[in-house]
Amino acid sequence: MYKARAYSAAGATSPLAPASIPRRDPADRDVRIEILFCGICHSDLHAVRNEWSEFMSTAYPIVPGHEIAGLVTKIGSAVKKFKVGDLAAVGCLVDSDRTCPRCKAGLENFCPNLRLTFGSRDDHLGGVTYGGYSDSIVVDEHFALRVPSNLDLAGAAPLLCAGITTYSPMRRYAVGKGKKVGVVGLGGLGHMAVKFADALGAQVVVFTTSPHKKEDALRLGADEVVVSRDANEMQKHAGTFDFILDAVSADHDVNAYLNLLALDGNLTLVGAPPKPLGVTAFALIFGNRSLSGSNIGGIPQTQEMLDFCGAHNITADVEVIPIQKVNEAYERLLRSDVKYRFSIDMTSLRE
Ligand SMILES: [Zn+2]
Ligand SMILES: [Zn+2]
Repeated sequence: MYKARAYSAAGATSPLAPASIPRRDPADRDVRIEILFCGICHSDLHAVRNEWSEFMSTAYPIVPGHEIAGLVTKIGSAVKKFKVGDLAAVGCLVDSDRTCPRCKAGLENFCPNLRLTFGSRDDHLGGVTYGGYSDSIVVDEHFALRVPSNLDLAGAAPLLCAGITTYSPMRRYAVGKGKKVGVVGLGGLGHMAVKFADALGAQVVVFTTSPHKKEDALRLGADEVVVSRDANEMQKHAGTFDFILDAVSADHDVNAYLNLLALDGNLTLVGAPPKPLGVTAFALIFGNRSLSGSNIGGIPQTQEMLDFCGAHNITADVEVIPIQKVNEAYERLLRSDVKYRFSIDMTSLRE
């Protein structure tokens, strides 16, 4: 065991502050990664403030962060995938049983014995797992991903959550050439969805409530931008979409988007509005439409996504901040005052 530097919160109303946390020494199949960048995901903030206590109560102190990118500094004797000096990344999961049908299908993200990167039981040291707001992390090599060397590392870190969350449902619903794809909400998730849908060859339409986001949406790869408050503009697209990704986490009318789906069209939710959705059955019945959810992705698909990003030079649009500005960044995140993801320069932790 060794002591790592980190930023942690002591309670739901405490700011994140410097802390020292235990990390295990690498076992045979472990890699130790020096963390260079960690993205700030909205679920970091929810967990720090215990806002999802109905589903999972936060254990304090918490060290959040599951968009981790850095360099391998130490490897166990049986490690095959990495050598010292390689780039490596860690996303939302650091362990699973590896034996259940879901794990065997490469869907470790749905393993009943899944261990999340932060806030899960730590089977090695006891206590809970600590995330990426830290100078290093130790994980089994199976849960570490290879990062294409052409990618900017600050912008690559958010691919580990925002990237795979949007990439996975697009692959499931065969987004590609000849398909019309809608993206609802242009934030951390939405801006990645636009880049992926565009790179996959689809016709991309962005829905936004903010007309001032139009230019940015076009720059990111959208072919068209629709202001969703304009009923006439919405009606023009009725019944035409093969797939819509809804990344809005505020309450909104999902029926307005279901009505835009073509025959057999699918709308997938990746945002989590606080109130139940009022879905009109007829919006689904007329046209064999479906409404789905999606939750990150398994390890093989996460690697596929990173390789796809390498081939198409895709990274998140980030604002790099030192760790000392993390509490300020959380307040700005609540105001959507970031284009489009914060990436923490973790070398600032050593200052
Ligand atoms: Zn996340
Ligand atoms: Zn499993």
